[in-house]
Amino acid sequence: MAKERKCSFCGRPDSQVRLLITGLNGYICNECAQQANEIVKETIGAERASKAGDIDWKNLPKPKEIKDFLDQYVIGQDEAKKHLAVAVYNHYKRLGQKKIEGADDVEIEKSNIIMVGSTGTGKTLLAHSIARLLNVPFTIVDATVFTEAGYVGEDIESILTRLLQVCDYNEARAEQGIVFIDEIDKIARKSDNPSITRDVSGEGVQQGLLKLLEGSDVLVPPNGGRKHPDQKMIKVNTKNILFICGGAFDGIERKIAQRMNTHVVGFNAVENTAQIDKDNLLQYIVPEDLKSYGLIPEIIGRLPVLTSLQPLDRTALRRILTEPKNSIVKQYIKLLDMDGIALSFDEETLEFIVDKALEYKLGARGLRSIVESIMLDVMFEIPSSKSNTFRVTLEYAKAQLAKTNLAKLQIA
Ligand code: ADP
Repeated sequence: MAKERKCSFCGRPDSQVRLLITGLNGYICNECAQQANEIVKETIGAERASKAGDIDWKNLPKPKEIKDFLDQYVIGQDEAKKHLAVAVYNHYKRLGQKKIEGADDVEIEKSNIIMVGSTGTGKTLLAHSIARLLNVPFTIVDATVFTEAGYVGEDIESILTRLLQVCDYNEARAEQGIVFIDEIDKIARKSDNPSITRDVSGEGVQQGLLKLLEGSDVLVPPNGGRKHPDQKMIKVNTKNILFICGGAFDGIERKIAQRMNTHVVGFNAVENTAQIDKDNLLQYIVPEDLKSYGLIPEIIGRLPVLTSLQPLDRTALRRILTEPKNSIVKQYIKLLDMDGIALSFDEETLEFIVDKALEYKLGARGLRSIVESIMLDVMFEIPSSKSNTFRVTLEYAKAQLAKTNLAKLQIA
């Protein structure tokens, strides 16, 4: 008589189970298979959750190290770098504190940041650079796409969708993340900001954002965009998410000047006015100015660290051309090096590029457009030629640039 088959896990015979699956050297019944499935799910879930705390607490980068790292990519902007470094370091510490629950009852609150600086001074670059260093989820979103519920555009909650996406929809990990919100000035109230073109955003969006900044449970549409009734939402708590906001706040200098004029009265008036650096009023920015610009006080209150970026002068632009780890000049040298061609730029060529960027008020962004215009023909022709060196002389740069309409670059 043939031996009755038994489940190799629970030992029950074929006759007592609904299904027995045959393996190479044994069997498994439907119930044991189901249990095994549960164990697999639990273990993998626990692994994912522990990854959420995948931070090396002993070797956290110290604020000075974070700044040194940023220095490799971003020229100048020391004050903003310091604020970022401290905020990120404290963010890690706050996350660490959660691990030793009940250790003491001093709760470290987060310090969201707002960075104000003219366009092209390095706000987004700072955010991107810090993202390279972090081992918490990080995402950059643009505030211009958000509109109040009921209008065309994205719901503010979809900020968190991006964060969920970068950590593979692991909520625990997303809840430790950092979000950079670019162009925050574009959601300022219109009445105070004549430059905005559409105002279905304004205060409604700010109210929505406030909910995220305050730290609450937020229902997030997993695929972003607009919420719709049939969609399954993911709950994310924003209490530990660090928000860094950036904006150009065009024209805010006028508000700063107005405030300073009205405040600078009395005994020291003359002396104080003399000390004011009129070319860089942004450095005197205070929260009150953001309010005059059209941010609601509640939002300002939730962004306790306010820092400004400096305008880039000639020296800074010259450094930006060659010094950062992935500077535009280094990138071109690398590109041609891959074809076996040694590329070099004469110093006077580099000075000329900076001059043009200043002359046409193109800022740091313009440096790339100018170098690209100068290099187009080289990039097109030299890989097929026999030469293995190329020197970008001043004459060559001038001739190439003369073919380009610089005014066109300005709009780009
Ligand atoms: P924004 O302040 O408008 O966010 P970005 O950070 O996008 O400006 O800067 C645009 C480009 O200009 C960057 O990609 C970078 O190449 C260059 N740039 C701007 N500021 C700096 C800086 N401080 N150091 C190095 N490069 C910079």
